[in-house]
Amino acid sequence: MKILENLIESFEKLPGIGPKTAERLAYSVLDLDDEYVKEFAQNLIDAKTKIKRCKICGMYCDSDICDVCKDKDRISDTLIVVSSTKDAIAIEKATKKYKYFVLNGNISLLKNITPDKLNIPLLLTRIETENIKEIILATSSTLDGETTARYLSNILENKVKVTRLAYGLPMGSELEYLDTLTLEKAISGRNKI
Ligand SMILES: [Zn+2]
Repeated sequence: MKILENLIESFEKLPGIGPKTAERLAYSVLDLDDEYVKEFAQNLIDAKTKIKRCKICGMYCDSDICDVCKDKDRISDTLIVVSSTKDAIAIEKATKKYKYFVLNGNISLLKNITPDKLNIPLLLTRIETENIKEIILATSSTLDGETTARYLSNILENKVKVTRLAYGLPMGSELEYLDTLTLEKAISGRNKI
């Protein structure tokens, strides 16, 4: 059945879904309520067509400027630099004091992601125009996260104070999986690079 095969293929493209799970999910769709399936399909389309990146920080949001960038109560001369929106949201759960900058990835030698693939020019512009005094590098403590932090600290150290989250954790920690207490400590105990 070509239709079912197409659906299985669609599921297989999702992260963490192997062929067996994709097959199970595809068959389970057939048993779902018609209304539910329509709503699900619409949610997928809406997510893809209506969610965009904030023009200031690069976070995913449903308007031109995200709620965090609009928030006047945030510390205005410090930016937390993260790899993804997911990481910024993880930090939001620990503290809502700061503004962000989303790099949209990490530098990776293995995956051939070079610095020019990241959103670095916009970060440099923000540092200038918003008179930023401190950059908190909050990339994960994985190999790629560390490579990215090192690269950024090299190009930024003459412009601003650069600090790094104090993980106090084994190498390889993905920021999005850290609990809020650990994140809070990592931010308040950040180290100067
Ligand atoms: Zn924003």
